[in-house]
Amino acid sequence: MKLTSQQIKNRAGELGIDVVGVGNIERFEKAPELLKITNYFPGCRSVIAVAMRIPRGTYRGIEEGTHWHNYTFYSYNKLNTFFRPRLTYELCRFIEDHGWEAVPHYPAVPEGQGHADPVAPGKLPPDIVPSIRIIAAGCGVGEIGYSKVFLTKKFGPRVRLGLIFTDAVLEPDPILDTGDICLHCGACVKECPGNAIPPITKNENDRITIDYGEKTVYYGDVQMGRCTLTHHGMNAEISPFLKKEFPHMEFDVRNSKMSEEEAYILCYTLAGGKWPRKPNTNGAVNEYYKSILSHTGYFAICGAKGCIRACMNRLEKAGRCENTFHHPFYRKKGWHMSVEAEEAKTTNPFREQYLEEKYPGITQGEYKKK
Ligand code: SF4
Ligand code: SF4
Repeated sequence: MKLTSQQIKNRAGELGIDVVGVGNIERFEKAPELLKITNYFPGCRSVIAVAMRIPRGTYRGIEEGTHWHNYTFYSYNKLNTFFRPRLTYELCRFIEDHGWEAVPHYPAVPEGQGHADPVAPGKLPPDIVPSIRIIAAGCGVGEIGYSKVFLTKKFGPRVRLGLIFTDAVLEPDPILDTGDICLHCGACVKECPGNAIPPITKNENDRITIDYGEKTVYYGDVQMGRCTLTHHGMNAEISPFLKKEFPHMEFDVRNSKMSEEEAYILCYTLAGGKWPRKPNTNGAVNEYYKSILSHTGYFAICGAKGCIRACMNRLEKAGRCENTFHHPFYRKKGWHMSVEAEEAKTTNPFREQYLEEKYPGITQGEYKKK
């Protein structure tokens, strides 16, 4: 049965999908082997990218410094694992009702894959994962901003993405030029608390360039180790929860050279870990991280201070965001915490506090220097 890009877009609109773009498979032929769509769907002829908005209001609590749960729950966990995939699934049904195979793409990231031995003929491992934002930009649904965050004309950086691969031949949308949305204004660079986004540069060697054949685009070479540390709560500048549990820690994330994977290992170990001698918290190393991680399977602490909040503010002000609001996003001066820590005065504050309450004075002299 005949199927056109316009029919798919009309159906996507009926389903409540915010933005849709279509790319032909030729644009992705130069992708590295482990990221190549045709390595897991050889018959693929077209790609459909869908973008669903992050409600601006889910940033409000973090912006005010008073509420963190909403952002992880609505704008990461449920948007990536429920709201968007449910509509992607419905769109796949529509495509397959027309007799064309539709492969919905699981929202994994390539960086975590590639560890298993091959089972299929040839030498490819069983975990090929295309880069979702690079493919989406090749479908014309938006642009990869300088910050590496995906930007759409309608919602700026407030979107999460999904992909469908199909053997239907569809009319492709034009790929956006670098700078069609991104202003290269540096607001994301200035406000990123992890110092993860490099200064705006004209030097091509310091940027990431993507070649789609018919067009090349570029974005900043973001230091993902610093971003991961900050995003997942190891940066005391933006985490009151880290400050509470580790008031004497002084970790200079801004100058860290950790890799992204090392940062993940550190952050998730901290969030999931227990220390049996710690009283009154079921031993959770970080009470807040552990509780939100166990409830939602994720925890986002930075709240994208630079790459989304500062960026959307700038794009809204510049009139580069079609979804407009009656009030500006920033309503007062933002907050910021110092990373400077006091020197620890005791070896085990939990023990000293307990003993002081039960047996006042009993620890006196224990740490006396001669
Ligand atoms: S703040 Fe947004 S528009 Fe400005 S440079 Fe960064 S990504 Fe581009
Ligand atoms: S999530 Fe936070 S640390 Fe990472 S790039 Fe965005 S603003 Fe910077």
